[in-house]
Amino acid sequence: TPRYRVTVVGSGNWGSVAAKLIASNTVKLPIFHDEVRMWVFEEILPGGEKLSKAINQTNENVKYLPGIKLGKNVIADPDLENAVKEANMLVFVTPHQFVAGICKRLVGKIKPNTEAISLIKGMEVKTEGPCMISKLITDMLGINCCVLMGANIANEIAVEKFSEATIGYKQDKEVAQRWARLFCTPYFLVSVVQDVEGVELCGTLKNVVAIAAGLVDGMNMGNNTKAAIMRIGLREMRALSKLLFPSVRDSTFFESCGVADLITTCLGGRNRKVAEAFAKSGGKRSFDELEAELLGGQKLQGVSTAKEVYEILSHRGWQAIFPLFTTVHEICIGQLPSSAIVEYSEQATNFS
Ligand code: NAD
Ligand code: 13P
Repeated sequence: TPRYRVTVVGSGNWGSVAAKLIASNTVKLPIFHDEVRMWVFEEILPGGEKLSKAINQTNENVKYLPGIKLGKNVIADPDLENAVKEANMLVFVTPHQFVAGICKRLVGKIKPNTEAISLIKGMEVKTEGPCMISKLITDMLGINCCVLMGANIANEIAVEKFSEATIGYKQDKEVAQRWARLFCTPYFLVSVVQDVEGVELCGTLKNVVAIAAGLVDGMNMGNNTKAAIMRIGLREMRALSKLLFPSVRDSTFFESCGVADLITTCLGGRNRKVAEAFAKSGGKRSFDELEAELLGGQKLQGVSTAKEVYEILSHRGWQAIFPLFTTVHEICIGQLPSSAIVEYSEQATNFS
């Protein structure tokens, strides 16, 4: 009899693809129960139908991943409590701003010995300092939480184009390997590293760099400038990660979650796309407005992450050593023009 039962908490663009990947494995591997529950934040579609009902009827997430069959063993469930009640493996994959609210509703509702994994790129800033999303899940629900991050633009994985990902774990390698079995397919290769903070900070901080890359695109600054922004951004990612968590390993930045995710997001991500439109508008349109117009309900993480990073930097007096991160936030809030993204070269050069 299968020992593990999986629920995916979230059903956006990446959430739906994650459910598809997982479902393709649970039907094959006897340790997993075939059925994959997917919690849906209920919405009413323009025709008046409920999103969860439409997903179960068509086997497609008609709003966030149209045209892709999820697998017959994926069951959409709008009732959060019901969706998790039999699961002992929880996959968290929602925009980061909603996680705390979701966890609050899950307190006392999950099975003992449940394991979690977070695919969420983002952090919360509390008075004591930054709190990564996996830690938030662990603290609120009292369960262990791994992370999975990588160069993973969801729409490409949906059509089974080859990519890689990295799982970060704290202590239990066996649990991490079980997660890897759940996700791994011939077109989705997963490696496992013992550096949960490093993996999660890579996935989180690259979204700020992607905003910078989009600004550069919007101003037609060319490939050399964009590569420079990516290099400076990667250096700030590593420096901030290590200042916050000295255990973070250099080698993590060479995994899929590090440099590869940075590259793909700066080339083809949503943060890049909206930042490009922002720069093209000369800063006249807001990020919120452009997100709603360009992303059809999908959510940006880079703008709020830039704000969260800025709070940490200003609280600790570190702004001068993180000029790119600092400038991105000041551009997002309209304090500086988009062109400021390349106007700190002296500080950037001196920064080691
Ligand atoms: P998304 O951007 O498609 O966001 C939309 C989702 O948010 C929908 O499911 C919607 O129902 C839900 N939502 C809206 N309001 C809500 C509310 N008040 N409460 C709860 N849910 C609400 O989501 P996604 O692409 O699945 O992204 C989830 C996470 O995965 C993010 O942290 C993102 O950075 C990360 N990620 C995304 C991709 C990608 O290519 N899409 C790739 C890797 C990682
Ligand atoms: P965007 O949210 O910018 O589309 O990035 C997706 C991603 O994280 C790819 O790994």
